[in-house]
Parts: sequence; structure tokens; C-alpha cells
Amino acid sequence: CGIVGVVGSKNTRDILMQGLEKLEYRGYDSAGIFVTDSNQHATLIKSVGRIADLREKIGMDVAGTSGIGHTRWATHGKPSESNAHPHQSSDHEFVLVHNGVIENYLEIKRDYLGADQFIGETDTEIAVHLIAKLAKENNLSTADAFKQALSIIEGSYAFALMHVSEPDVIYVAKNKSPLLIGLGDGYNMVCSDAMAMIRETSEFMEIHDNELVILTKDHVEIQDIDGKILTRESYTAELDI
Ligand code: GLU
Repeated sequence: CGIVGVVGSKNTRDILMQGLEKLEYRGYDSAGIFVTDSNQHATLIKSVGRIADLREKIGMDVAGTSGIGHTRWATHGKPSESNAHPHQSSDHEFVLVHNGVIENYLEIKRDYLGADQFIGETDTEIAVHLIAKLAKENNLSTADAFKQALSIIEGSYAFALMHVSEPDVIYVAKNKSPLLIGLGDGYNMVCSDAMAMIRETSEFMEIHDNELVILTKDHVEIQDIDGKILTRESYTAELDI
């Protein structure tokens, strides 16, 4: 299971696919990508089975300047195309990838989402529906809805979140699951493993648990849980490709 995301690169499709291939060793049963350009022209494609199958399905026409990708190792819900990530909210506005397990997903469903909401089999879908509901009901920005959702969600996670009307931003958070930032020249990345980004960059930045990272092509904003902006040095890694 793994996550890769990129913002600000014309090669988004290829960077995501190469990243997913590099993450294959972590094990997976399905995979998917969401790619968008700055005009909000977006594509979401998922596939059960090998990354090569996903690659075939995507073809060469899909293009964009940012996106998120995921390899899934199913914990809740069988391996299937609809259970594969990225997951969307019912209004299709929020797009989420997740590694890990949301321990209190049934409680969240009961306490926040009610019976009328269409919800699939996975714990991850609960998270994207929760974020969308908090944003809508409380009129919150994506960052604030995400933060509020994170204060409710218990368990292990690496999350990368996008909103269709903000195609140049990726929102990122982690708890007990690996995730780090890769800094490029005119673009930035997020990934479960530095090795999956090393073709693009050797400059990285750590993310700690209980932080919110707002990633754009030329900026990385890290906030703590109270919204305080943190400064963090990047580091250069010498990894053998
Ligand atoms: N628990 C999530 C699911 O079953 C994420 C699994 C993963 O880490 O790939 O869809």
C-alpha cells in the first residue's frame, strides 16, 4: 500500500505511475490515480490488479498538472474497483487517498453521517464523506474541514486530499503511517517512500504526526493542530537508484 502525489508538473501522469510502480513492493491488490489540470479538467481511474493494468486503462490521453495516486492493500471491503482509491465525496468535490486503518469508522458513520448517505464498504470512504459534510454544514475551507475531520478520526493514516475547485493544492496529514514531502524545482511531491520520488528529486522534508501540510507547486506550509505555522528544514538524501 502506498501514496504518491504531485502538484505543479506537466508530467503528473508519468510521475504518479512511476511512483506507484516503485511502491509495488509494499504490496497491493488495486490502484488508482486522480489527475487534474488547473482548469479543473479532471480524470479518476482505478483498476484491480497490477499497476500495468492501470497504466493500460489510463492510456496517453490523460494529462494534468497535479494529482494523487494510491496502491491499496484492502483492510475494510474486498479488493474491487469501487473500493479502490482515490475515493470521492458524494458531490464529487473532495478526492482522498488513504493508507492505514480508521479504527472508529463505524462510530463516525453513526454519529456524523446518518443512514441516508451513500457509503461504500471501506473505512476510507467514511473519511471523505465526513470531510465533505463538515465543509458543507459548517461552511469551512478545505483545510479547516480536513483539520476538524482529523480531530474526529482515530487510527493510523497517511492522507492526501484534493478539492476539485483547488486543483493546485494537495492537503496532507499522517498518523503512524509513513509519508514525506519531496521538493522539486517548480513542483512538489508527497509520497510514502523517498525511493518512489528519487527520480524526480533528492530533497525531502519530514512530516510529523498531528500536522497539516498544504502543498502547492512552490510552497510547503506545515501547521500544527492549533493552526500555528511551523518552519522545517529540508534535507538532501543520497539514495542509489
Ligand atoms: N483501510 C483502507 C482500505 O481498506 C486503506 C488500505 C491501505 O492502506 O491500502 O481501503
